[in-house]
Amino acid sequence: MGEFDLIARYFTRPVHRAALGIGDDCALLQPAPGTQMAISCDMLVQGRHFFADTDPRRLGHKSLAVNLSDLAACGAKPLAFTLALALPEVNEPWLAAFAEGLFALADAHGCELIGGDTTAGPLNICITVFGEVPVVNGTSQALLRSGARAGDNLYVSGTLGDARLALEALQGKLSVPEAVLAVVRERLQRPTPRVALGQALRGIASAAIDVSDGLIGDLGHILERSRVGAIVQVDQLVQCIACHAQAAQTDDASDLHLSQEQWRALALCGGDDYELLFTAPTSQSAAVATAARASQTPVRRVGRIEAATGLRLIDDQGKVLPNHYASFDHFA
Ligand code: ADP
Ligand code: MG
Repeated sequence: MGEFDLIARYFTRPVHRAALGIGDDCALLQPAPGTQMAISCDMLVQGRHFFADTDPRRLGHKSLAVNLSDLAACGAKPLAFTLALALPEVNEPWLAAFAEGLFALADAHGCELIGGDTTAGPLNICITVFGEVPVVNGTSQALLRSGARAGDNLYVSGTLGDARLALEALQGKLSVPEAVLAVVRERLQRPTPRVALGQALRGIASAAIDVSDGLIGDLGHILERSRVGAIVQVDQLVQCIACHAQAAQTDDASDLHLSQEQWRALALCGGDDYELLFTAPTSQSAAVATAARASQTPVRRVGRIEAATGLRLIDDQGKVLPNHYASFDHFA
């Protein structure tokens, strides 16, 4: 099968929102009047971001999910995406499963594949997403990293640390009971981009980011761009680890023996969660709760923004903890 048959068979689908899809030199997008286009690009490299034997259906899902998560962090509504694919060989069952996972998530968000590039090479998946954010009275409603102010509350959606726990288990560094692994592997391989929450937070959140490299690092980006500091209640974060709750509930999961320090490190440094980390003024507390309910996304308050720069970690007694945690950096 040649390049063009491959594109036609697995990736060409009719478009409804874009003005022109696959088949020409350019695709054409028509942003709705009064909107700006939000654009983000993420690459997934075999051996770096996923294992060679990863289920292609899950890989298709995750490739788009990590991109939709960036749109979510900006409060943007997904519109379309492009797919640049390097493939070591034409493996039709693999392609069919990859496309199935990819399009299932795309369809769930009304996000259309409008173009891309296909080449032979080591497996590499690069997606660019396009989304819309409204402009109201000349002001963009996009959520940025730079808007956090002293006194704002700090929130996180869903659960943190589970994906990292799955990674450690799959790499054989930690022994994790089957029941727990089933839960956390799903979080690692089929993350849920918080697209509805991101849009619901427009006009409410003062700053937002998605947690891809771990809370410490990603919160650091908000603090730096907003020129503020923060205090984080670490044990509130540990409550955000799904398998932590599960460990307390099921017999099998009680075999999961992690120290308090390990739980804290998972919550603070674990990456690949694709949750939203955001700030909002205290006057918006009720609106945050409403946005969480409307988007059916759990949200937890985990700290506060302060004028003094830097990050302070405290335990549930309010005692300051040493901050020796580092987040993921591909070149560190
Ligand atoms: P060009 O030579 O102009 O780069 P190509 O011949 O590479 O165009 O691609 C032909 C068409 O197929 C274009 O519309 C391109 O966007 C689309 N396309 C190529 N690869 C992919 C892919 N992996 N997924 C979706 N569309 C693709
Ligand atoms: Mg090309």
